[in-house]
Amino acid sequence: MGESETAALVDQITSAVLHRLAEASDRIVVGVSNRHVHLSRADLQTLFGLDELTLYRPVRQPQDFAAEQIVAVHGPRTSFARVRAMGPCRPKSQVELSRTDAIALGIDAPLTQSGHLDAAGPIDIEGPRGTIHLDHAAIVAARHIHMGPAHAKAWGLADQDRVQVRFDGERGGVLHNFIVRLKDDWIPEIHLDTDEANALGLHTGDYGTLIRR
Ligand SMILES: [Zn+2]
Repeated sequence: MGESETAALVDQITSAVLHRLAEASDRIVVGVSNRHVHLSRADLQTLFGLDELTLYRPVRQPQDFAAEQIVAVHGPRTSFARVRAMGPCRPKSQVELSRTDAIALGIDAPLTQSGHLDAAGPIDIEGPRGTIHLDHAAIVAARHIHMGPAHAKAWGLADQDRVQVRFDGERGGVLHNFIVRLKDDWIPEIHLDTDEANALGLHTGDYGTLIRR
């Protein structure tokens, strides 16, 4: 093999390796969100007589955790008896449902970002110490990707950008409109609800590939 052929081959291999590396680094772990509630301190007090949620198990994002506290949620059509609270407490309580859950409950829950509750649907939450009715708490959380500033910079993304993600596998596909959500201590994680995950055959711990343009 001549010198120029060798150089061309090296270039070809280098480019393939770089391409592979770039692809690998665009892989982001998936977290599937089952229905859950976030509670304000006042509502936690009413439902459980507690000032703080207590740790059941940590989740991937450093400040967040699955709490030991479990509530029932009631809609006009049905109820779910065991819905876990996620900590820490939030300024306002909210119930995150899949579309299937909302239909089963008989609640008109809008697709919206976590914490955007102006148009959220009405729902009742029952704890061991009491029940509350919230006029604006039930939502279907918009699919999103958590990340910190370093990854956002590397990917050329900003908070609230919308991106597409490819999921491989037997039922794989590309989903649009993942909202980029940025916070200093967050690590990259794709959040989907159970409807989306089931449609694409995904489980927590699987990976999606960020589609970069
Ligand atoms: Zn999330």
